Amino acid sequence: MKVYLVGGAVRDKLLGIPVKDNDWVVIGSTPDEMINKGFQPVGQDFPVFLHPKTKEEYALARTERKSGHGYAGFTFHTSPDVTLEEDLIRRDLTINAIAENETGQLVDPYNGQQDLANKQLRHVSPAFQEDPLRILRVARFAARFHTLGFSVATETNQLMKAMVAGGEAAWLVPERVWQETARALTESSPSVFFTTLAQCDALSVVLPELESSADNKLIQQALELSAENQLDPEIRLALCFAFDDITTQSVKDFANRLKLPSLFSELINLTVAHTKLAKSTMDSLSGEALIGLYEKTDAFRRPDRFLQLLKVVGIHGQVTKQPLPKTTIDRVASILEHCRKMSAREFVEQGYKGKEIGEQLRIARTQQINVSLSDD
Ligand code: ATP
Ligand code: MG
Repeated sequence: MKVYLVGGAVRDKLLGIPVKDNDWVVIGSTPDEMINKGFQPVGQDFPVFLHPKTKEEYALARTERKSGHGYAGFTFHTSPDVTLEEDLIRRDLTINAIAENETGQLVDPYNGQQDLANKQLRHVSPAFQEDPLRILRVARFAARFHTLGFSVATETNQLMKAMVAGGEAAWLVPERVWQETARALTESSPSVFFTTLAQCDALSVVLPELESSADNKLIQQALELSAENQLDPEIRLALCFAFDDITTQSVKDFANRLKLPSLFSELINLTVAHTKLAKSTMDSLSGEALIGLYEKTDAFRRPDRFLQLLKVVGIHGQVTKQPLPKTTIDRVASILEHCRKMSAREFVEQGYKGKEIGEQLRIARTQQINVSLSDD
């Protein structure tokens, strides 16, 4: 048997960027031989094994044939006579289809190195069109490598367009769409994920709720700024909803459809409901307005989420050319911290009962806010 390093590890080494994980392909072996060598089988759909020591993934070379629609519609074939070239040709992009042997020699039958040099994201073969997930992957790689100067090859964009027109993108299940979107949001040019999908007409099929993220310049700038500042992916997604008038019902439908984790959906809800209020509160900065903002956003109980909202509002201000001074944002955060140190227990101990406890706590917090605001 022969073992080759493949995929992202070879690509990233050639790009001179840190390698995240090693994927290996094994030629001329069988599941029995792998198990006898101590490898642990893990693949459900196709034979993938974990190395007994390094726990890295070793996949038996395979070919595949389309047998239905979408990502699941494949029949895989592995046998000791599947060649490296046959395995590489079913991969998505040429830059992901370079293999390296034990002595560091590259096997590159589909000219991945040339595309690395020309900064092209190009499909390996027409088999690309058999898996719509590849459209999302290409958009994600475009978002990741945009800052290095990469773009989608014209033929690949055409092929993706044809796939969408043929109805293939509609087979992508929301779970996979969200998985890829969540990863794309963490990349260095998240907005390029949306523009790449829009360019091949896939955005309106897979993420119709985010169509404006591809053409609203404010959202694009906000996404780039949030990436520059390495802000959380929750903040990045919320910014996609910060500039248009959006109803709470449409946010709800979007969150339900994609089964968004609550950290994401809650911040979108806060953004849609309270960005304007937060902005005007911070412009005027009165005690009464500030406590109102904390209460409406449940900031006393959910301070981390509130701090994320402050970041959303900060970026919103920057791109709409109505920036909030950083000192104001920091103050609103630190006053919240002061207020959170007061607890209801104090008032229980003073003998207050029922509703009075909350009322007293609110009075004390308002006083605290006013003292803090008049401090300097
Ligand atoms: P990352 O740095 O994100 O890990 P990667 O290129 O290594 O990038 P993986 O998802 O780890 O991506 O997949 C490893 C390799 O498997 C890819 O480089 C590609 O060759 C191939 N691959 C993965 N998913 C697909 C797919 N849906 N269609 C075709 N090839 C794929
Ligand atoms: Mg990988």
